[in-house]
Amino acid sequence: MRLSRYFLPVLKEAPAEAEIASHSLMLRAGMIQQLSAGIYNWLPLGHAVLKRIEQIVREEMNRAGAIEILMPTIQPADLWRESGRYDAYGKEMLRITDRHERDMLYGPTNEENVTDIFRRHVRSYKQLPLNLYHIQWKFRDEIRPRFGVMRGREFLMKDAYSFDADFEGAKRSYDAMFLAYLRAFSRMGLTAIPMVAETGPIGGNMSHEFQILASTGESAVYYDAAFEEVDLGAPDLDIERLKSLYAATDEMHEPEKCEVAADRLRAGRGVEVGHIFYFGTKYSEAMGATVTGPDGSDVPVEMGSYGIGISRLVGAIIEAFHDERGIVWPEDVAPFKVGLVNLRPGDEATSAMADELYAKLEKAGVTVLLDDRDERAGVKFATMDLIGLPWQVTVGPRGVAAGTVELKARGTGEREEMTPEALLARLS
Ligand code: ATP
Ligand code: MG
Ligand code: MG
Ligand code: MG
Repeated sequence: MRLSRYFLPVLKEAPAEAEIASHSLMLRAGMIQQLSAGIYNWLPLGHAVLKRIEQIVREEMNRAGAIEILMPTIQPADLWRESGRYDAYGKEMLRITDRHERDMLYGPTNEENVTDIFRRHVRSYKQLPLNLYHIQWKFRDEIRPRFGVMRGREFLMKDAYSFDADFEGAKRSYDAMFLAYLRAFSRMGLTAIPMVAETGPIGGNMSHEFQILASTGESAVYYDAAFEEVDLGAPDLDIERLKSLYAATDEMHEPEKCEVAADRLRAGRGVEVGHIFYFGTKYSEAMGATVTGPDGSDVPVEMGSYGIGISRLVGAIIEAFHDERGIVWPEDVAPFKVGLVNLRPGDEATSAMADELYAKLEKAGVTVLLDDRDERAGVKFATMDLIGLPWQVTVGPRGVAAGTVELKARGTGEREEMTPEALLARLS
């Protein structure tokens, strides 16, 4: 992409309404623009990151055996009356009346919707296990939308729903999602700590919130230092051990029951980026979603739901990865891998080398943003630092005369002079 032809409305000033770094940086880097409280336009750079996060989540869901569908944003109230949640949900639900005076709503989540799909098609335990997920916009009329996309009213969520014939199956489904979550967050460069969460009347330990640590997080969190030593990418990750390690948000933290030695108990603040929940037959019983078991009798299906805040993650990742100059994207979620700066677009030799590098990188499948604007060098470098692409390549007249370009790693700030050939080998 050539910056001269792109749409990157960066702001010079830090916007006054932004209370935290990620919100401010997303506005400054031209990633989002507010349309109404908690409702955002996703501009090209923000959209690119959103799609990359979505894709990582999709790949890990598919790898865990979940199957993608797409349910609508608008749902009929009658479905929610069946589960009893239409009245229970309260003001967070955006209620709509259509032209025929039918009560509709903008979905805050999809348990009822997916249970309805299930009950219409699945009859036997032999068709299980089944896990259906979608990645769809949700609306919750949050009383206090804030921190930009971190607590929006309209937000993008991945929500998966598992169906099993019995508890053992439901536990297997839960554990598969637990692992998929750890993998997905670690691919984004994040350490997400699974914390025991409220299970309500169901009880047990089958609800976890995945929290990433950030000083601006909304809840206080307490966890065993052992989490900092776990290799979340390890293929032989022991889920039972992870579940047995102490980790709780302030709501669930019980100092008198916590057995972690004082010097091993970490305290911090966390952002909830995902939540997995086993809720048994709560919806299947209310909505008549049953399957025939091996003995021929009908049983309500065992269910769980598994959410990831895709749009919240864009902000959460920036909270974890930024410095005083701007965003520092982990490579796997970066909107472009390389920012290529043509220092002197008016100079023929410089432009020839920048254009050639651009073409060759793109040909090698590397995503590149080429700054070919007629701007001062300082402005170009500041823009690159602000938008945080992992690799910055500078092509200028002096280097071109010497046959070199400069490579800078955004994360470490390390710079290196090298030939264009060496650069291509390094980045592709
Ligand atoms: P919170 O405690 O932050 O209000 P929640 O517990 O109500 O979140 P869940 O119902 O568990 O949210 O939804 C699954 C995921 O969706 C959350 O873990 C979070 O990442 C994301 N999410 C929830 N509400 C919002 C929101 N208002 N804006 C952005 N993401 C959200
Ligand atoms: Mg909430
Ligand atoms: Mg919560
Ligand atoms: Mg939650």
